Amino acid sequence: MSCALFLQRVGFDVQVIDRQGPGEGCSFGNAAGIATSEIIPISKPGLLTKVPKWFLDPDGPLSVKLTYLPKLAPWLWRFARAGNMARVRELAAAAAQLSELSGRDHETLRRAAGAEHLLVGEDCAAIYDRDREFSESQWEWDLRSEFGVKYRKLSGAEMNELEPAISADIGCAVILEGWRNLSDPYRFVTMLAECFERQGGVMRSGEVSGFEIADNSVTGLRLADGAVVRADYSVIAAGAWSHRLAAQLGSKVPLEADRGYNTTMPNSGVTLGRQLIYESGGFAITPLSEGLRIGGAVEFAGLEAPANYRRADAMLRKAKCILPDLEDTRGEQWMGARPALPDFVPVIGPSPHFSNVHYAFGHGHLGLTWGPTSGRFVAEHIAGKPSNLDLTAYRIDRF
Ligand SMILES: Cc1cc2nc3c(=O)[nH]c(=O)nc-3n(C[C@H](O)[C@H](O)[C@H](O)COP(=O)(O)OP(=O)(O)OC[C@H]3O[C@@H](n4cnc5c(N)ncnc54)[C@H](O)[C@@H]3O)c2cc1C
Repeated sequence: MSCALFLQRVGFDVQVIDRQGPGEGCSFGNAAGIATSEIIPISKPGLLTKVPKWFLDPDGPLSVKLTYLPKLAPWLWRFARAGNMARVRELAAAAAQLSELSGRDHETLRRAAGAEHLLVGEDCAAIYDRDREFSESQWEWDLRSEFGVKYRKLSGAEMNELEPAISADIGCAVILEGWRNLSDPYRFVTMLAECFERQGGVMRSGEVSGFEIADNSVTGLRLADGAVVRADYSVIAAGAWSHRLAAQLGSKVPLEADRGYNTTMPNSGVTLGRQLIYESGGFAITPLSEGLRIGGAVEFAGLEAPANYRRADAMLRKAKCILPDLEDTRGEQWMGARPALPDFVPVIGPSPHFSNVHYAFGHGHLGLTWGPTSGRFVAEHIAGKPSNLDLTAYRIDRF
């Protein structure tokens, strides 16, 4: 929807083809954080030493379906390679570039869609069970600071004073200033879609199964029902399924479904004034208009495996350690497939094979945060306008 709206702004007639309704993919149930300070790649020095422990813990933040492991192995190898310090710094810089621009691009879309009321929060708290865990990640906070992220550390008692729902027994907390979130991320996408249609855009329900190609140019999209949609330019922004379409256009991309889970509880018994990132548990706790949403975690099992909601249950149990008053944990459970590339930053920009095809996918854990900037960049590039985003780090042929 970000690509579509920014393409309209530069003067194109746009059609969006999606087999689901707008926002019904991974964007449906995310943790709603415009997480501009989350610039540290997931693969980092020391991470691999923790993986065996996580594998053995059925409730841990990472799980891999064993039968899926052989298929995942090449992705994991690339993921591990991205975790050396020199590469982490490069990737953090590429992430910071997107994050820095995302505030303004979000605002542009929110204003256009009349969705300003969905923006809430002024900061966010990262919670650690033990002070030692914070010390071990001090280098990450230093690196964030280098890119302008502002934070302050609180003791457990200080955090409890600020947010009485949080146990004073936590090790410590970090307040991240300037972090905003949405009160309803799904509504945000549907409002973008409504705005797009009001401005003359066409939403078309259908599955793209292939492409019409003539003279080294993609002239149309073939749908599963046999229809062909003619287009001068095409943008592939199909979340965790994008690699299947890119492969048909000559670009092989190591994209994986990084499956996350959560539960949204209308009556949790807990009131919070800000979003929490439970660093020790590997998940987020977000107060939304429809209730408290608790979830995150990472599961690799491919796109087709059924959801395993034990993972959502496990996060609820863990959340009780820091939110002792959490009482009614009945709620709606959800699983979403994050489009994950092994080196953390998305693919944004033109196809190396077809000059009238562009890509915007692979935003992993940060698609809500970075989506608007990716959309603006793609639109400006297609329109031949100068842009303030350096594309190099996001090229599709970097793999
Ligand atoms: C638990 C969880 C918490 C998260 N929290 C945050 C957060 O706090 N902040 C943040 O920034 N990000 C967060 N994310 C990540 C974010 O939600 C994703 O990065 C983002 O939703 C990806 O958006 P997308 O448009 O690329 O993919 P999607 O939202 O999945 O959309 C892709 C769409 O393409 C359609 N499609 C695919 N193939 C085809 C085809 N061949 N033909 C037609 N249609 C097709 C799909 O049906 C789908 O509707 C979270 C994710 C999860 C799972």
